[in-house]
Amino acid sequence: MLTSLHGKSVLVTGGTSGIGLGIAVGFARQGAKVAISGRQRDKVEAVASRLRDQGLAVIGLAADVGDRTQVLRMIEEVAQAQGGLDVLCANAGVFPSAALAEMSETDWDKVLGTNAKGTFLCVQAALPYLRRAEYGRVILTSSITGPVTGFPGWAHYGASKAAQLGFMRTAAIELARDGITINALLPGNIATEGLQGMGEDYQASMAASIPLKRLGTVEDIASAALFFASREAGYVTGQSLIIDGGQILPESLQALA
Ligand code: NAP
Repeated sequence: MLTSLHGKSVLVTGGTSGIGLGIAVGFARQGAKVAISGRQRDKVEAVASRLRDQGLAVIGLAADVGDRTQVLRMIEEVAQAQGGLDVLCANAGVFPSAALAEMSETDWDKVLGTNAKGTFLCVQAALPYLRRAEYGRVILTSSITGPVTGFPGWAHYGASKAAQLGFMRTAAIELARDGITINALLPGNIATEGLQGMGEDYQASMAASIPLKRLGTVEDIASAALFFASREAGYVTGQSLIIDGGQILPESLQALA
C-alpha cells in the first residue's frame, strides 16, 4: 500500500484527453488537487467541469507548453489555486506523421517545440514551487518510439521522445539537490483519442504485435505515474519505465506465434 497522495497539488499538461486525462483522473481519485492543461480553452474548461461533476477536485487552464510566457502563467495559476505544486506531469505531446523525405522544417520544429522544448519550459517554470514541496516529483511522458523503437513517419517524434530522456538524466542530478525526483513513462501503444486517429488497421496490427495481445489503457499508464509520484518512489530518479504489454520484446513474428 503506497502512502496517500491525498491533498497533493498536481499539474498534468495535456490533461484534456488520452493518457494525460487518465493520469489526471488517477491522481484525482487518490484525493489529489489536479490541474489539467491544453491549448483549447473551451475543451480545458469542459473537461475540468465534467470531472468536477464526478466529485473530483480538478481545475482547467489553457496554455501552450511551447510558449514560455503561457507556461509561466499556467504554473503560477496552478500554484495559487492549489496552494503550491508537488507533482508535475509533463505529458503534453503531438505525434503527426511525416515521411523523412518530405518532412519540412516546420514539421520538425512543431514536434520538437511541443514535445522537447515544452518539457524543458514546464520543468524549469515548476522548479521554484517543486523546491518548496515536501517532496517534489516530475513525471515525463516519453514513449517507446525513439528511446527504444522506430516507426516510419516518426523520425521527428522519435527524436523528441529520446530528447526527453537525455534532458531527464541531467535534470535528475541537478534536481536531486532539492530532493526532487524526475522519471519517465515510456508507453507502448495506448488506446487514446490520439491513437484512434491512426485508424482501425493500425490499431489492430499493433494489438497483434503485442505479447499481451491488447493495446494499453490510460489506467495502465496512470498506475505507473502514481508510483513515481509516491513517497515510496523517493529513491528512484532519472529512470524510465516501459509500459507496453511486452511490445518491444519479440525478436521476430515467429516469437509471437
Ligand atoms: P492526445 O489524446 O492527442 O492528447 C494530447 C494532449 O496534449 C491533449 O490534451 C492536447 O490538448 C495536449 N497538447 C498537445 N499539444 C499541446 C501544446 N502545445 N500545449 C499544451 N497542450 C498540448 O494524445 P495521447 O495519445 O494521450 O498522448 C499523450 C502523451 O503520451 C504524448 O506526449 C505522447 O507522445 C505520449 N504517448 C502516447 C502514446 C499512445 O499510444 N497514445 C504512446 C506513447 C507515448 P490540445 O490539443 O487542446 O492542446
